[in-house]
Amino acid sequence: MLVAALENGTVIDHIPTSKLFTVANLLKLDTFPEPVLIGNNLSSNKIGKKGMIKISNRMLTDDEISRLAVVCPNIRLCIIRDYEVVEKKEVMLPDTLENVVKCANPVCISNNEPMRSFFYVTDKDNGIMRCHYCNKEQKIEKAEFYKQLVLNI
Ligand SMILES: [Zn+2]
Repeated sequence: MLVAALENGTVIDHIPTSKLFTVANLLKLDTFPEPVLIGNNLSSNKIGKKGMIKISNRMLTDDEISRLAVVCPNIRLCIIRDYEVVEKKEVMLPDTLENVVKCANPVCISNNEPMRSFFYVTDKDNGIMRCHYCNKEQKIEKAEFYKQLVLNI
């Protein structure tokens, strides 16, 4: 299964084993109609055990990559075209997160007005972000995603 070649699509590698199904859910792979291979507890020289997902005929959007960075930073994406790896990307937490997750402060203006959230990632190692609007510091992994990414305002 691991060596099954992908003609076109995306390989998501170095997924922490505990996050594999979170990633699959986030990308809505349960309803994706093309072939998908999901492997867990595979050996990795780098992180011990890992999960890996191969998705045929799908490129991830920037929004999906931002969401992946939030749930598990340091995964690796390989883009495959005609059986060749044409691009490798390490997914990193960005310096800012805009309109990806909600502020944990219920009285924050970003939760009460039709507007986008905006956070500064203040501590990448510990996954801490600070809201631009209310200044509340919060754990990125505890944050709730917006159901719909783009607000038309
Ligand atoms: Zn806030």
